[in-house]
Amino acid sequence: MRAMLTARRQTLQVLVSKVAIGGAAPIAVQSMTNTDTADVEATVTQVRALARAGSELVRITVNSAEAAAAVPLIRDRLHAAGITVPLIGDFHFNGHKLLREYPDCATALDKYRINPGNVGRGAKRDSQFAEMIEIACRLDKPVRIGVNWGSLDQELLARLMDENNALPVPASAQTVMREAIVRSALDSAELAVGVGLPRDRIILSAKVSGVQDLLAVYRNLAARCDYPLHLGLTEAGMGSKGIVASTAGIGVLLADGIGDTIRVSLTPEPGGDRTQEVIVAQEILQTMGLRAFLPMVVACPGCGRTTSTYFQELAQRIQSHIRHRMPQWAKDYTGVEEMTVAVMGCVVNGPGESRHASIGISLPGTGERPVAPVYEDGEKTVTLKGERIAEEFQELLERYIERTYPRRAPQGVQP
Ligand code: SF4
Repeated sequence: MRAMLTARRQTLQVLVSKVAIGGAAPIAVQSMTNTDTADVEATVTQVRALARAGSELVRITVNSAEAAAAVPLIRDRLHAAGITVPLIGDFHFNGHKLLREYPDCATALDKYRINPGNVGRGAKRDSQFAEMIEIACRLDKPVRIGVNWGSLDQELLARLMDENNALPVPASAQTVMREAIVRSALDSAELAVGVGLPRDRIILSAKVSGVQDLLAVYRNLAARCDYPLHLGLTEAGMGSKGIVASTAGIGVLLADGIGDTIRVSLTPEPGGDRTQEVIVAQEILQTMGLRAFLPMVVACPGCGRTTSTYFQELAQRIQSHIRHRMPQWAKDYTGVEEMTVAVMGCVVNGPGESRHASIGISLPGTGERPVAPVYEDGEKTVTLKGERIAEEFQELLERYIERTYPRRAPQGVQP
């Protein structure tokens, strides 16, 4: 599948603690907490959940003195629990002050995210940005320069608009806005390099909320620099809208070979699970054949031959079982994430699809004999019947993994 994608864009490689971003490193999955960072307990709990779901970097907002004071406590609590996922501090207008006044916070964080549109106005802007970069240089921290169109540097945008209006044939306002986003990222990176930040300590992002804008901005950015790029659609939205928009934007860029780390910014439902953004990001990378995180479940959509909900329930139970068991399997077995599981609804395509999977089951369709043939590595091994088909298939799955994938040596404490 990978051969169908454009070769990955060549970039510098940035090391964030032990996680490499860019170069030949795998495309990393990031997430962000939505807890009050000053609430140590809540933030530790959420970072832990995000890391356990597979987030390889977690961003936390550092917006107040209380939040900055909490950061080293959060880091210590996580490390005590064996969770070493890199923590990224998200800074805005008072970032220079917080980093200066809370040196333990500056040290505890593994990377700083700076939004050049939110570091100050007028003459203060460059000096406050430079102060944060100087601290990053002194403590050897990488920096993501993260432009967001909702907080785009208005002075830069106004200047580019004026220049554009003076042209004999002015470009559209949308084109100028896109250029301003790209220029804000590139100019800020050059400013950081001028202050002394090595080029291989810089990651860029330029988030917008429209998919076509995202494609245009990132393609432009990718053509004009070799910094690693963090992809994401900002304000993607809730539910299926957020997932579809993020997948469309991020997927097209990844297919172009653009992108070194991704975040899916979903708005959770009230009381919803924050880890959904990690799962969606993993699924984007896995379905594009770029990384493998979980065994893939191939399930047919069902049709008039599957008139009961039994088939959907079984497919869902198997998917949940795999996600629930995967952290333990990943600890115990090498290569288990490469497994494919087929859950099919009838004998029309079921046996064929099952034969192509590592392990597959073909459930009885309406009017078919109430039996479910199971295939393992292309061979029919057993036919399940009766009330316990789901449980028995899960047991077969466990046994298949046990005998197919080599056991790992025991590891230390994991998230
Ligand atoms: S495998 Fe059978 S049940 Fe599933 S969609 Fe195809 S024909 Fe319908």
